[in-house]
Amino acid sequence: MTEELYARVILDMVSNALDRPFQYSVPSHLCGRVKLGSRVQVPFRSQKITAYVVALDREAVVENPREILNVQDPYPVLRPEFVKLSYWLSRRFFSRWIEAIRLCLPPAGDGVKTRYVQYVWPLLPESSLLEESARLKTKAFRQALILEHLALAKEGLPWTELKEKTGAGRQSLTSLINKGLLKMEMVPCERLPWEETLEQTGLHRELCLTGEQETAWEEIKKGFSGEQKQFLIYGITGSGKTELYLRAAEEVVKQGRTVLFLVPEIALTPQVLEQLRIRFPGRFALLHSSLSPGERYDQWLRVRRGEVRLVFGARSAVFAPLRNIGLIVMDEEHENTYKQYDSPRYHTRDVARWRAAYHGSVLLMGSATPSLETFLETKEEKVKLIRLSERAGGRLLPSVEVVDMRREFNDKNRSIFSRPLRRAMEETLSRGEQMMLFLNRRGFSSFQLCRQCGQVIKCPSCDVSLTYHSSPEHLQCHYCGYKRVILEFCPNCNSRYIRNFGLGTQRVEKEVKSIFPEIEVIRMDSDTTIDRRAYTRIWNTFKEKRASVLIGTQMIAKGFDFPGVTLVGIVAADITLHLPDFRAGERTFQLLSQAAGRAGRGAREGRVIIQTFTPWHYSIKAAAAHNYMNFLQEEFKRRKILLYPPFSEIILISCSSPLETKARDSAESLKKRLAESLPSSGQGEAELLGPSPAPLFKIKERFRYHLIYKGFNLLKYSEIIRDAVWNFTKETGEDIRVTVDFNPLMML
Ligand SMILES: [Zn+2]
Ligand SMILES: [Zn+2]
Repeated sequence: MTEELYARVILDMVSNALDRPFQYSVPSHLCGRVKLGSRVQVPFRSQKITAYVVALDREAVVENPREILNVQDPYPVLRPEFVKLSYWLSRRFFSRWIEAIRLCLPPAGDGVKTRYVQYVWPLLPESSLLEESARLKTKAFRQALILEHLALAKEGLPWTELKEKTGAGRQSLTSLINKGLLKMEMVPCERLPWEETLEQTGLHRELCLTGEQETAWEEIKKGFSGEQKQFLIYGITGSGKTELYLRAAEEVVKQGRTVLFLVPEIALTPQVLEQLRIRFPGRFALLHSSLSPGERYDQWLRVRRGEVRLVFGARSAVFAPLRNIGLIVMDEEHENTYKQYDSPRYHTRDVARWRAAYHGSVLLMGSATPSLETFLETKEEKVKLIRLSERAGGRLLPSVEVVDMRREFNDKNRSIFSRPLRRAMEETLSRGEQMMLFLNRRGFSSFQLCRQCGQVIKCPSCDVSLTYHSSPEHLQCHYCGYKRVILEFCPNCNSRYIRNFGLGTQRVEKEVKSIFPEIEVIRMDSDTTIDRRAYTRIWNTFKEKRASVLIGTQMIAKGFDFPGVTLVGIVAADITLHLPDFRAGERTFQLLSQAAGRAGRGAREGRVIIQTFTPWHYSIKAAAAHNYMNFLQEEFKRRKILLYPPFSEIILISCSSPLETKARDSAESLKKRLAESLPSSGQGEAELLGPSPAPLFKIKERFRYHLIYKGFNLLKYSEIIRDAVWNFTKETGEDIRVTVDFNPLMML
């Protein structure tokens, strides 16, 4: 066999100019050690740089390539799957290849010291150990006990554990070792990220499926042998999605394959985590950013060594180095946290799909409010839809009341609380119960809203709210750049009460305190919850009922179960509904559904009050009626007419600079350059919109302008866009940054 004498590598440097493979030669002393996926060191210019082998060649493609200096690990740090995956990911999500490679590497193990424990191993088979134990019982009782324990354990045990169980001392152990019956070894100890105190018997309840779940399971089972391998379980909270995930995981592990189990946020799913630990003891790994570096490294190594059957984790766990994956579970598939906001701006669902196709595994997604993208695919039969409509335990959904804030305004109530909400607050407090007041999102941009009729001023072509700008005063569309003057009178009802609308949690807190001065109020948003301890403190305060009112942003809408909460007030549903984003309606529906789910988690019935100036909007009506299908129908109609995803694709290109003029000018010239090579409006396939100021116009002292490329099958132009942007950034100064986001979830 001829050896490959050349290797192409990706340098471990983030730079558009260096974003391509460089060829090096393999010196004879490294022959056979340089493999696909190896981490090596190479000379580059006058430096020594880490690099990753992405291809091996028999011939040189450059003249006199320089030599690889050394190979860094005993085995290739990237398996071939990850060389391919990282390339695909970098093309699809417009990142540099090295950024995608970094996602697949072991978590930084630098400076992590391996801890060792003393392990005792038997050197004889089980039966001989028991014989020997019986013989020693009278004259050396402790030694006999040690042998008995090891025989029953059928494996090595840590000395600390043996000592504790037998009461034996070091001498007993030493004499057994001297007799050649046992040996002692230092074994690297894993830092287990949880307390191993669970009694593992008794908690392992058999999965008991209802009739509906049983039918669903029969359907999913077909996926293990059939063609259709992608499923969406659409079912309300409590309908048994988790039971199906667990059943499928057990089946796959029984077949000798592995499971990747993804959730949006580990902290919010303690019950699932516990079930997995019970069902897959010792063969289960948790990959999560909140683990210490040492813990993460250990867990990753266990997966890589093949000691693990199931990996549980959030977004980044999708890159876990499992082999032979039989099942990928993606719970709450609609959640935004599955999308990464920094480069590479990948969506976990796309990566999960890629890996499922690579391994031929079943992909099981689930949600009570599925994303429009995935739901559309069930209609196109790319994904099989499984519906669960029964709610286990028969618990009722809370009753939801929508309060029309226009009427409050016209009746001269200028408080941020409507009369019904205020009455409900008084009743709740007088019964000694708790409430959550929820502000969909902290207001950062404002829009014009008529207090009398609820009219919001929108862009005539994009159907997103126009954003208010102060100097000079005007309204602007953040998609196409359309501008118009401020309105003095409502175009609908002619009222002069058409004003900017925006509201923060601090304002809500102030108003609650002035109405109920005796009541303990806490606020939880990104201002007050910067560090984790503060977060836990607030959480405990509310859990222990030392406060009656919790005010917060969407953080409190997710997964917080406080049985004492019987009232949830949504103070201003309009803030999310009129975000300058085409997904505003979807976001509103999801947030309202989640927030409503917080009420009445305990024995008492819950009550939800939604305040809004636009009570007729389908997102609000559908959320109040707990009716996802109604919402879906309306939203599909709107997206189809306006050609928004999932009926099209969007590539968002953002230019930023500390100088506003530079940001705008660079967006302008990048647009010209793109327009030269891309098919645009004229060809009817796609259009390039902008530049327009981003809704979040200034972030960290940088001004931002957006270009939006909208159309079908845009990925076929990805190389053109990539080249244009990469070349553009090479020519412009360092103070201009350009980012490219394929199918962004936020257009802010
Ligand atoms: Zn009006
Ligand atoms: Zn527009």
